[in-house]
Amino acid sequence: MIVIIGSINMDLVLRVPRMPHPGETLSGGQFRTIPGGKGANQAVACARLSADSVKVAMIACLGDDAFGAELRAALRSDGIDDTHVSTIKGVASGVASILVDAGGQNSIVLAAGANDALSPAHIDAARALIEQSRIVVLQLETPLPTIRHAIKLAHELGKVVVLNPAPAQALPSDLLAQVQYLIPNEIEAAMLAGLPEASLDSDAAIDAAIATLRASGSDKVLVTLGAKGVYAALSSGSVHFAAQPTKAIDTTAAGDTFIGGFVAALAEGRSEADAIAFAQRAAALSVARIGAQTSIPYRHELEA
Ligand code: ADP
Repeated sequence: MIVIIGSINMDLVLRVPRMPHPGETLSGGQFRTIPGGKGANQAVACARLSADSVKVAMIACLGDDAFGAELRAALRSDGIDDTHVSTIKGVASGVASILVDAGGQNSIVLAAGANDALSPAHIDAARALIEQSRIVVLQLETPLPTIRHAIKLAHELGKVVVLNPAPAQALPSDLLAQVQYLIPNEIEAAMLAGLPEASLDSDAAIDAAIATLRASGSDKVLVTLGAKGVYAALSSGSVHFAAQPTKAIDTTAAGDTFIGGFVAALAEGRSEADAIAFAQRAAALSVARIGAQTSIPYRHELEA
C-alpha cells in the first residue's frame, strides 16, 4: 500500500483573455472547477498508475462544504481509500483560485482552509494504515509540525518516505535525514540548498545543490527539470535522464504526476531507473492536457 499525506484543494480555474488590472472588471472568462491540491493529485497519480494489486490511501482534511463532498467523491472514483480523510466542521475546503491568460501564463491564490487542520492527532489515528504501507508520500501544503510528526513516525516504522518539498521552503536537516527520496523541482532544490533561484542552470550547478542537500541529511535526491527531465542522485551516482519529448499545453500537475508514477513503479519493485522512465512518460502525457487531476494519465495509456 501507498499512503499519501497532504492537501486536497478545489481548483477554481478561470481562463481569461489577459490578466486583469487591480480594480478592473474583465469579461470573456471561462470557468471550470477541477479537483487538485498536491496531495490529492499525487494520490490520484499513484492510483491511476499503480498495478491493480497496489492499494492507495490518503490522510488529509476536507471542509464540510459542497467542495468537500465533491473532492471526496473524486478520490473515491479513483479507488483511493478515504477512511482517514477527515471532514472538519465549520471550515471551508482548500481552494486554489487560478487565472490562466491566453498565453498560458497563470496566477494563483491559495486558501488552505481545512488543509491547515491536519494535525499530529490525525496522523496518530491513522497509525495502523501507515503500518500497513510500504511507501509514505508527503508534500508541504499542510502544517509543518504535522509533516514532521508523520515523517518521524513513518521513518521509525521503517517505511520508505518520499518528500516533495513543495511549495518551496527551507527545512531542518533532521527532517531531511528521515526522507529516503527527496523530489524537488529546480526552484525548490535551489531554495533548500540556500542558492539563488536561477543558479541551477547546468548539471554541475545541480550537482553542487544536491551535494549541499546530501550534506544536510538527504539520502537520494531527484531534481525535476521540466522539459529538461530529471537529475537524480542515487546510490549508484548521479544521472541525468532526458524528458520524454512532447508538446506541452499545460504543465499543471506535471511534478505530481511524476511523483505518482515514480512511487507506483517503486511499489511494484521496479528499479529506480525504470521508475524514473515510467514517471517521465506519465508526466509527458499530463503536460499535453489541461488541468490538474483531469490531466493525470491511466496506466493503460502508458502500456499502449
Ligand atoms: P513541477 O510541476 O513540480 O514544477 P517539473 O516542471 O519539473 O515539475 O516537471 C516534472 C516532470 O514532468 C519533469 O521531470 C518531466 O519529466 C515532465 N515534464 C514537465 N514539463 C515537460 C515538458 N515540457 N515536456 C516533457 N516533459 C515535461
